[in-house]
Amino acid sequence: MQGFILSIQIIKNQDLIVKILTSSQILDLYRFYGVRHSILSVGKKVDFDIQYDGLFMPKMRNILEFGYPWEQDYARTYVWQIFIKLLLDHLRDVSDLDGFYFALLERGAQLLGRQNPMRVALEMSAALIMHEGRNARIHHNRCFLCDEDLSDEIGLGRAFLFAHPKCIGGERFEKVKIFDFLDRCSTLALDDDEVERLWRIFSLGL
Ligand SMILES: [Zn+2]
Repeated sequence: MQGFILSIQIIKNQDLIVKILTSSQILDLYRFYGVRHSILSVGKKVDFDIQYDGLFMPKMRNILEFGYPWEQDYARTYVWQIFIKLLLDHLRDVSDLDGFYFALLERGAQLLGRQNPMRVALEMSAALIMHEGRNARIHHNRCFLCDEDLSDEIGLGRAFLFAHPKCIGGERFEKVKIFDFLDRCSTLALDDDEVERLWRIFSLGL
């Protein structure tokens, strides 16, 4: 089975509880400490077996790590781990999943090696918002704080909710550009400064 590691919790004797996102589930698995075991890290893609023995928690065995070339690059790894952390928070109470999330991570991990990592993460988040049907309410063209119509310049809240700049404060964006970004899941129309400013909002939560 394949999956991406969402979190790792160290428990007694350096044993681990590993939370993994697969193409159909989020699993909590037990990993016994072993001197020769490779060191796992958050965000890694792994291949593994599950051993069910009817006790406590299924065990994770025969782990094989997939290495991406960008894993040596601090800036890319940093962005990736932030995305994984936000995804973990977002899927906190979920156990069964459709295949979208695993495919999103696989595709993102491929792109991360050759594109601006913030653009990759933002485009992944736009795809996620669209998949979950949350872009529809954005098109109400209303401020999520006061419910009045928006004008051409907007402010953004967590998960890219639209607001009047005067209601939410902070950064201002051109509404058409943000519509374009969320509709097409593309940052092509955004310059690097806009990407960085969006990234700061993205980091607040999916
Ligand atoms: Zn408002």
